[in-house]
Amino acid sequence: MNKTFRTWLYDLGNCLYPKICPVCKTPIRTWNRFLCYPCHEKLAYTHSWKMNQHPMHALFWGRIPIERIDSLFHYRKNSPIQTVLHRIKYHHYPELAEELGRYYGKYLAKSGKYQRIDWLVPIPMHPKKELERGYNQAHCFAKGLSETMNIPVHQKILQKTTYTSTQTKKNRSERNRELAQSFSINPHFRRSNQHFVLIDDVLTTGATLDAAASQLLKIKGAKVSIVTLAVVI
Ligand SMILES: [Zn+2]
Repeated sequence: MNKTFRTWLYDLGNCLYPKICPVCKTPIRTWNRFLCYPCHEKLAYTHSWKMNQHPMHALFWGRIPIERIDSLFHYRKNSPIQTVLHRIKYHHYPELAEELGRYYGKYLAKSGKYQRIDWLVPIPMHPKKELERGYNQAHCFAKGLSETMNIPVHQKILQKTTYTSTQTKKNRSERNRELAQSFSINPHFRRSNQHFVLIDDVLTTGATLDAAASQLLKIKGAKVSIVTLAVVI
């Protein structure tokens, strides 16, 4: 389908069912945008996929060997990305996570940094939590990435075995210990020498990704990279 025809189709569809910006709730006028133009202009792209190594890599130095780390946006409080993440997580917008995955996957595919990857592995949720929410936002994001990066998603390699409450009163080291024990590898996964890309919505301290990566690295010859939608840096 050529671009003019696609734009025309979008305009026609938009007249009948206008696509609404998930941040400010005004109609989106541009066919290839997930936010309206003014909200999109306020997003801070990291452009990490154009660099050999972005400073966010330092979050894992001395902790765990990570091959590549990329994140699409810098997380800023009171910015559209905060609202986008909140909508995805709490307001039942799984399709927005998929759309962002498709959008971001094009940049990552073009960068050439993800050519020899075996699996995209979304950070799993505890089954009880996933049932409550109805979806795992990291899995939705991974599905979108998979479409444009042409890399399969495997959501059964890593399992979340314990239910961790966000309302915890434990200190950081207790929480980290609990996190490290909360993931396990599916014993039926038997392939060695695989390169996994862990997928999550936001990278903050890196504790969750660190805990998940340490489990994947127990697989013989495994390599781990990380891709998130936003990074707090
Ligand atoms: Zn908007």
